[in-house]
Amino acid sequence: MSTSLIYHTQGIQGFQHESFSFSGGCVVQRLKRKNFRCLQCNSRNVSRYQTRRRKIQALPYGQKPTFFELDVHQLYCFTCGKKTSEQLPFLSHPKARLTKAFERTIVELRRDMTISALSDYFKVRWHTIKEIEKRHLQRKYARIPLKSVKVMGIDEIAYGRDEKGKIRFWTIARDLKTGAVLHVDKGKDGDSLKNFLKRLRQSGAKIEVVAMDMAKAYISWVKKNLPGTKIVFDHFHVIKLMNDKIDKERRELAKTLDKQQADQLKNMRYILLRNEENLKPNAQERLEALKAFSEELCELHTMKEELRSIYRTAENELQAALALGDWCEKASVGCSKNMRKMAKTIHSHWEGIIAYWSYGGLTNAAMEGFNNKVKTMIRQAYGLRDLEYMRLKIFDLPKIRQNDGI
Ligand SMILES: [Zn+2]
Repeated sequence: MSTSLIYHTQGIQGFQHESFSFSGGCVVQRLKRKNFRCLQCNSRNVSRYQTRRRKIQALPYGQKPTFFELDVHQLYCFTCGKKTSEQLPFLSHPKARLTKAFERTIVELRRDMTISALSDYFKVRWHTIKEIEKRHLQRKYARIPLKSVKVMGIDEIAYGRDEKGKIRFWTIARDLKTGAVLHVDKGKDGDSLKNFLKRLRQSGAKIEVVAMDMAKAYISWVKKNLPGTKIVFDHFHVIKLMNDKIDKERRELAKTLDKQQADQLKNMRYILLRNEENLKPNAQERLEALKAFSEELCELHTMKEELRSIYRTAENELQAALALGDWCEKASVGCSKNMRKMAKTIHSHWEGIIAYWSYGGLTNAAMEGFNNKVKTMIRQAYGLRDLEYMRLKIFDLPKIRQNDGI
């Protein structure tokens, strides 16, 4: 009965039940291999001697943590004369401390439970669960099909600082039609895309459009490596750059103020960067007060809203070019240095900015939503040292709901 039970509940074949014992609140089930075969030639004509005793955590019986205990042997084969070490087929790798069936259950539950919750429930170390998920992600994303990718997005995302206090970045490439993550690597330049380029070439993919921000590194990477591919500076990145300019102006202004005023200004940050229609009435009032306080911030904020309105209303390239042309003219004689700089940037990236209107598929929501997901994950993983695990988690993000924790 117990032997058939371990097959039907724990997925274990070729072993038989010997005994049950209880110790320290755990169930310990002794198992014995039914018969031994040479790993080289499959002959049964082998002699064996025990090398060690192993304890492997299995799916719990009820609420009790459950362990299998069994002896592992060295085998000598009389048929082929080879010496081999006995392998346990119910482990995902020779050093695993949990059965495969248990690991599968953990991976399945991980979709709905945090690592900490799983660790508490199953009495398995946090680190062990993370490693199980990591191996699963490594297998899952070992080969990402690239052949049918046509519209791609390249982006950089900051994820903390290195030992010297420098901000660290990931470069992320995504298929903007399916949302799938295609590549994640350290850094924010062409080098971060080296391996990706190799895979891209092997796949024979024909990339038509790449959406990105206006950073030089990615632009020259596309021009050099993907000739004939159109570069688009999308809505999300243009507005993001505009927000960066506003933030810069705010910080510059803060330096000229006393501490109390500077702190007040710091608290106004989100009011300036948020879309105006999303502000609550009292925030709206504070925004007006802030605008009266600084001519430069007032100008930048008004121009940001005008820029957003161009994206909302222009229906084609021609309308966009006319409206943006007017906008640039106004911005280039602005009172804020940051405003004039923004006008220059738009001018020098004109073609790629206008090209946005030719590609309806590049929706802002998809890019912004994904970036927010990555940021949420980084926040939740604060203090987590395993960068490779975090990198792999990014591949999983399109399938994860926003509020799932680490
Ligand atoms: Zn043999």
